[in-house]
Formats: sequence, structure tokens, C-alpha cells
Amino acid sequence: MTPSLIIHGGAFAVPHSRIEACKQGCREALEAGWKILSAGGSALDAVEAAVISLEENPEYDAGIGSHLNRDGHVSLDAIVMDGQTLRSGAVAAVERIRNPIRLARTVMEASHHMLLAGTGAERFALEHGFALCRPEDLIIERERRAWKLCTRFGHQRQFHDPEFLFSPQYLEKLSSQPDISEAVPKSRDGGTVGAVAMDREGRLFAATSTGGTCSKVPGRVGDSPIIGCGCYADVEAGGVSSTGWGEAIMKIVMAKSAVDFLRAGRSAQEAADEAIRLLSARTGGTGGLILLDRSGTPAFAFSTPHMVWGIATAPEYLRVGV
Ligand code: ASP
Repeated sequence: MTPSLIIHGGAFAVPHSRIEACKQGCREALEAGWKILSAGGSALDAVEAAVISLEENPEYDAGIGSHLNRDGHVSLDAIVMDGQTLRSGAVAAVERIRNPIRLARTVMEASHHMLLAGTGAERFALEHGFALCRPEDLIIERERRAWKLCTRFGHQRQFHDPEFLFSPQYLEKLSSQPDISEAVPKSRDGGTVGAVAMDREGRLFAATSTGGTCSKVPGRVGDSPIIGCGCYADVEAGGVSSTGWGEAIMKIVMAKSAVDFLRAGRSAQEAADEAIRLLSARTGGTGGLILLDRSGTPAFAFSTPHMVWGIATAPEYLRVGV
């Protein structure tokens, strides 16, 4: 097989001031995954390397730099899925794991379970040689400021724009009185990350990692670590990683729906488009997804203003976009 890799860094309205950094992060993640695939390495190692690179990059809502929940904590979810065996490993609501995708892989490889949550997942991590980080190690100043505004005024797009957050308007806004019309969130801003890879042996893996939605209720888990919703892979049809409004994506089991469209004979692009149409038609929700079909053909679709994406295919062709 010819190897291929597709990644995303979330479907949302990316503030102008963050576009270049988001693209650069995708380039680095693609390079990390592609280095493995092009040297004949496994799709599992490639998706893990790409996702770790994105988790380590504070631009994205995964690992360090993630959105804070209502209590002001980072609470992380991640999943990886093997398209050959249909095994997956996932973790949800972990607060002391720097790279949850690594732990999701360990759940898949070293347990009989598919999803571990909260402190149980963290105990499993300790038992398997992981070091736990301090919860505050995952928090950055941009998100602390965003949280202060979003919990007070409701989530708004400009509250995630560093140009606003690090300007005098930030303090002005913080000291102003919330107006009742601001209480309803006007948008959801993401930065979830994901990757799907096929290697030379035809192995197919998909992975997703997220900090979830800004100011979420503590304990909330979205689509990302749920098999069939945030991620799905089956070598007979294709692999998918989703992003967007989790509560809507779960209603239509979006990743599995896209794979089912492939199974029904749609092209990679048709399947991606159809899943996003279904999301909108049945839930009114917005989001995006990346996929590889069973021959490794990449496609992506989104209904948000932007989606951060990257594709690497042989021979040595790397593209990124927002
Ligand atoms: N789907 C993620 C969640 O709902 C968020 C995102 O992808 O932006 O947790």
C-alpha cells in the first residue's frame, strides 16, 4: 500500500491572529507522523506521534493549552482505534495526563477494556509506568483569561482571541457587568486534534484527542473518546476522526456514519460531505471530520468557518490549510 496520513487541529472560527501558528503546528505534526510512515513504520506509531505533537502544542485544545472546564481545570479525552481488529482504547476526563493519546494506546494494548475514565484511568496510568503531571501544568495564561470571561459572560469567540485577551480591552471587559443577553453561548470554539493513517502494510488507525468544550460542566465527556462518534476505523471501509459540537456529533454517531457511507460505495469526499450534511440536517450542529478510505485516499469536510487540516501522501507531499 502507499502510505497516507491526514490530521486536523479542530473545526471552529480560528482567530486571524492564530492562523499561522495553527498551520505551523499541523506542519510539525504531519512531519512527525510522516517520518514514521515513509520509513515503513506503523500507522499506529504515526497517528500517535502526530497527535502527541499536537497535544504538546498549546495552540490546540488537546493536552497542554486545552480549554478549562467550569471549575477551571483541564479535563482531557482521547481515543485510538485499530481498523484491522476493531479494538480501540480510550480515556475520558483525565486531569493529570500530559499526553492522553499515549494512555489511550496503552488501554488498547494492555487492558481488556476500551474506555477508562477519571481517577481510575489515572491509576491505570500509574500502574503502567506513566508519570502523572500536576493539573496546573496543563493550563496556560490564554486559557485562564478565556475562562475568566467565558464563565462570567458566556462563551464568545473573541474571548479566545489572544489579540483581545492580551489587550487593555480584556481588563475593561473583566470589570464590566454581564448583560443578560450574553449568558447564552454564541459559539463553541475548538481545537480538538486527530489523525488517520494507513501504512505500507495496509494497517489503518484513527485517533482523536481533546480538552473538550470551554467551560464544560465538570464530568462532561463529549464525542471525542467515544467509539463511532469522535473516531472510527475499519480496514474494510476507512477511518475517521471528528471534531465540532460533541453533543450533536454523538446524536448521529458521526465517525461511524461516515465509515458506513464509505462502505455503501461513496467516494472519500462524498462520504465526508454526506456525514457533515447529516450532522446539520438531523441536529443543526456544526463540525468537521477527516478520513481515509480503504485505499488511503484522504478527504475532509467541515461546516464551521474553518478547520485546521494537514495531508501527507507519497511521494513526499505535505499540505496544510485552515
Ligand atoms: N468535539 C469536541 C467535544 O465536544 C470539541 C471539538 O472538537 O471542538 O468535546
